[in-house]
Amino acid sequence: MPGPLSLPGRAPLHRLDLDWVRRAGIELAVLRLDRVDPELSGNKWFKLSHHLQAAAASGASGLISLGGAHSNHLHALAAAGRRFGLATVGLLRGHAVETPTVADLRRFGMTLHWLGYDGYRQRHRPDFWTPWLDRHPGHHPIPEGGGGLAGARGCAALVEQVRGQLGEVGLDDYDGWWLAAGTGTTLAGLAIAEAGQRMVYGALAGPPSHGVAEGVDALLAQAGQVRRPYRLIEASRGGFGRFDQTLARFLFETEAASGVPLEPVYTAKALLALREFLQHGGLEPGTRLVFVHTGGLQGRRAADAELRRLAT
Ligand SMILES: *Cc1c(COP(=O)(O)O)cnc(C)c1O
Repeated sequence: MPGPLSLPGRAPLHRLDLDWVRRAGIELAVLRLDRVDPELSGNKWFKLSHHLQAAAASGASGLISLGGAHSNHLHALAAAGRRFGLATVGLLRGHAVETPTVADLRRFGMTLHWLGYDGYRQRHRPDFWTPWLDRHPGHHPIPEGGGGLAGARGCAALVEQVRGQLGEVGLDDYDGWWLAAGTGTTLAGLAIAEAGQRMVYGALAGPPSHGVAEGVDALLAQAGQVRRPYRLIEASRGGFGRFDQTLARFLFETEAASGVPLEPVYTAKALLALREFLQHGGLEPGTRLVFVHTGGLQGRRAADAELRRLAT
């Protein structure tokens, strides 16, 4: 059993051979964060790793954080708490609903509090945590989504993991990264670890107005990085968590062609945005790109029926 300071395991890197990738003449490899561990996986697990170390260093008895009823973050947090013997408390947005994610949170032993929508909106107030920490003394609070500089730093491990496996996939080097961006914390972690050496493309899972660039710039500034070689690409297709027929068909076709499972909120949207980017000549032939499969497959369960309906 891994100790409390255990870091995320190795994410396999392999080639992604798709006809539209071949047509564009680029080389694409995928870093499979969905394959790190059956429960502790995805970018949320990497984002949590430094937060967990901080919790362990401070002798915390538990972890407390917030998210929605499909939250990949709370799912990873609850799984980590169970594995490392820490109590977990989840503060949930909205009113009590049963989703596959919520059922897992309970099964992992997480204590759930439903805040309603107004209550959840208070989460940025400076006194927000006080009553919750009074109620759950000794718990280490973790920001929504495992964000902040600690979250970004946890994602620096991805760079090492890719560099250690390039030879195995027949690449001498790589030119850039392509990944889904929600808050942009994972993207910022890569940009910090690359120190401006390689381009990081973030395919936006939500509308561009959500201040992602400001958040990324703030993280880069906190890390003392002046060069900003990243680019945000519109990829949300009408909004966060909105699905259309093109997306649903793309998801099923890509899974069948590649054998790589995808989910519709982040990973399928990011790959579809890459296909469109390449169709518009966005990358030179010969470009070697690493696509990060950021995980999140646990959230697919709640969307599956809608995806199947849309695809037919
Ligand atoms: C949360 C999440 C993202 C977005 O990560 P950020 O660090 O917020 O940009 C991308 N993909 C999946 C599967 C996620 O769960």
